[in-house]
Amino acid sequence: MVFEHNRAAAEKNLNYFIENKLSNYSKLRNFSADTLNRLTTSKLSPYITHGILNEAEVIKEILKKHSFSKSEKFINEILWRIYWKGYLELRPQIWDDFISDLKAIEIEYKNNRNYKLAIEGSTNIKCFNDWLKELKETNYLHNHVRMWFASIWIFTLNLPWQLGASLFIKYLYDGDISSNTLSWRWVAGIQTVGKNYLAKEWNIRKFTNEKYTNIKVNENALPIIDMRQYQLKLNEFLNPKIKQNLKLLIFENNLSFEESDFSNKNFEKIFLVKNNNRKIELCKNVKELKNNFINDQANRLKYKSINYEVINIEDVIKINEDVFALYPNIGENFDFIKSYNSKNIKYLYRKIDLISWKYCNKGFFNFKNYIPKIIKELN
Ligand SMILES: Cc1cc2nc3c(=O)[nH]c(=O)nc-3n(C[C@H](O)[C@H](O)[C@H](O)COP(=O)(O)OP(=O)(O)OC[C@H]3O[C@@H](n4cnc5c(N)ncnc54)[C@H](O)[C@@H]3O)c2cc1C
Repeated sequence: MVFEHNRAAAEKNLNYFIENKLSNYSKLRNFSADTLNRLTTSKLSPYITHGILNEAEVIKEILKKHSFSKSEKFINEILWRIYWKGYLELRPQIWDDFISDLKAIEIEYKNNRNYKLAIEGSTNIKCFNDWLKELKETNYLHNHVRMWFASIWIFTLNLPWQLGASLFIKYLYDGDISSNTLSWRWVAGIQTVGKNYLAKEWNIRKFTNEKYTNIKVNENALPIIDMRQYQLKLNEFLNPKIKQNLKLLIFENNLSFEESDFSNKNFEKIFLVKNNNRKIELCKNVKELKNNFINDQANRLKYKSINYEVINIEDVIKINEDVFALYPNIGENFDFIKSYNSKNIKYLYRKIDLISWKYCNKGFFNFKNYIPKIIKELN
C-alpha cells in the first residue's frame, strides 16, 4: 500500500476502512497484515498522530455508519491513544526521565554487540531481522509485531527498552511520544508494575499465519524493575478565553486546523511550526513525511484564504506578543518552547482531551468504563 502524505488520502483511507474493513476488525486485528496479504488494521496512525485526522472526527465518521457495539473494539483503540496521552500529561516526569536515561544508555551501549546486531537486523532471530528491515523500509509495523519486537528486544536480546523506544521514534511514521514510551514501558513490565509482555513462539507462529516457525525467544523472563514512582501532577487543563485577531501556533500534532474545535475563531495569522532541533534524531523518510504534512496543511489554509506562514521552532521564541497555540502535548516541541519560558503563549486544548484526561489518573480498564460517557459528551 502506498502511503500518501495528504489529508485527501487520509479521508479516502478512513472511508475505505469504515466501509470495507471495520466489521472484521476485532476478529482480524491481531494478525499481522503482510502475512495474510490484506489489511487487518486501518493503518491510519500516521494521519492520526499528526492530527491530519483527529480522533473525534474518526469516531464521528464511524458512528455515522456503524453502531457503537459493532465498532466498540476499534473506538476503544482510538481512545487508548487518548488515554496514553492523558496518562503522560498527568505524569510528565516519565518523559523527562526517559530522555535523561536514554542519553546515558546511548553512551553505555554504543559498542554493545547485541545492540549493533539488533539495529542492523543481523541477529539470529529471523522474524526480528525481517521486522527491523520492514520498520526501516516502510516506517510502519503492525501492533502485534511492535509487541513481539519490543519483547524480543528487551527479554531475548537483553537491551534497554529506552533504546528500542528511541529507534521506533526515529523510524515510525506514526512515532508518538506517549503511545510509544508508555507501550515500551508496558512490554517491559514497568507500566503495569510486575506484568511484562512475553512474546511466545506459538503466538508469533499463529498470528503470522505460520510465516515464522521454530523461533527461539526467551519466554520466561522476569519483568524489568524500575523503582521510580510517578505521582499525579495536579494539572487543571482549562481553555483561556479566545481573544479575536491574535496569532495562532500549530505544531506537528494538529495539522488540520479546518477540522479543529477552533476553526470558527478569527486568528489574525497562523504559524505552522517545523522542528529540526530534536533530542531524538528522525530518519529521512519521517522528516519528509512531516514536511509534506505541514505543506499540505499550508495548502488547505491557502485555499481557505487564511493568512499563514511556515516557521522554524527557533523563530517561536522571537515572537514577543501574546499568541495562542494548539497544545503540542508532552514531547519535543513542548520541551523546546518550555525551555525558553515563553509566557506569552496561551495553550488551547481539544475538547476530546479535556473530556477524557480527567479519567487518566488510574489504569486503562478504569478509563474504559467512561468511554460511553466520553462519546456522549463529545456529541
Ligand atoms: C512497543 C509499541 C510502540 C508503539 N508506538 C506507537 C507510536 O509511536 N505511535 C502510535 O500511534 N502508536 C504506537 N503504538 C500503538 C499501536 O501499535 C499503533 O497505534 C498501531 O499499530 C497503528 O496501526 P493502525 O493505525 O493500523 O492501528 P488500528 O488497529 O487500525 O487502530 C486505529 C488507531 O487506534 C490507535 N491505536 C491502536 N492501537 C493502539 C495502541 N495499542 N495504543 C495506542 N493507540 C492505539 C492508533 O491511533 C491507530 O491508528 C505502539 C505499540 C507498541 C506495542
